[in-house]
Amino acid sequence: MTVALPSGETIPALGMGTWMMAEKAGKRADEIAALRAGIDLGLTLIDTAEMYGSGASEELVGEAVRGRRDEVFLVSKVLPSNASTAGTVRACEASLRRLGTDRLDLYLLHWRGSVPFSRTLDGFASLVEAGKIRHWGVSNLDLADMRELTALPGFCQTNQILYNLSRRGPEHDLLPWHASSGIPVMAYSPVEQGRLLGSPVLAEIGLRHNATPAQVALAWVLRLPHVNAIPKAGTVEHVRENAAALSLKLSAEDFADLDRAFPPPGGPEPLEML
Ligand code: NDP
Repeated sequence: MTVALPSGETIPALGMGTWMMAEKAGKRADEIAALRAGIDLGLTLIDTAEMYGSGASEELVGEAVRGRRDEVFLVSKVLPSNASTAGTVRACEASLRRLGTDRLDLYLLHWRGSVPFSRTLDGFASLVEAGKIRHWGVSNLDLADMRELTALPGFCQTNQILYNLSRRGPEHDLLPWHASSGIPVMAYSPVEQGRLLGSPVLAEIGLRHNATPAQVALAWVLRLPHVNAIPKAGTVEHVRENAAALSLKLSAEDFADLDRAFPPPGGPEPLEML
């Protein structure tokens, strides 16, 4: 399963997140093994950020992809406080050093800060020209922000937002806008950082398919062709389980039960972020 970018390239519908990796030395080997197992299983999109562990997550990702750089689609993010034109270039160069690579496949503005979009976009443009990033995008932008951004010159490739069964607000207007604009959404925290996994409804639906609650939650996010998901999994076992969600097809009855337990938005809601 893939999702199409405006560039015409496709990316895996299921990737891997890395927030909160590289925080405990005792977990490092498992985390690296998990990312490598994910690459073997086709979860070749890896999401990180300069913010995560103040660069430690990028260093761990660099170690995990060493020797396999060309197999992965690497995503990192610039902090809004670094997102001036020159600051964006500097931040990216530091991310590249930590990742041990010469280029990012996608570089995102982590959230909107006080720097005007046009300045950050100038930084992205010079990074593209220098071959240091292949594409750029944004994160945590609501509909008004996306309209403002896309009125500027340049080609935003994605908007990475909080979206899962317990955070359905974007379905009201942001997801439909993305569907019609051709800019896909990258869903972060797709299992609500684990908080969704105790849901009895997810367990019950899982039983119908011999699937786990995590697989049901991921299959639900992946039902939309213009949305991909980047769960973070710190063990090979969780990565394998998540990869298998790609072959889980939920039924009309499953969707109806999920709508009852996790109702869609009744009107506009502010975009939430974690
Ligand atoms: P997720 O919803 O991906 O949840 C991660 C948690 O779920 C971890 O505790 C993990 O445990 C657990 N988990 C994952 N798979 C399973 C499974 N199969 N069974 C049981 N537990 C499981 O939350 P994140 O906040 O990490 O979001 C994913 C990624 O999105 C981040 O890592 C980051 O890359 C990105 N992100 C971006 C943000 C932004 O502002 N742009 C904000 C937040 C996240 P374990 O580690 O033990 O496997």
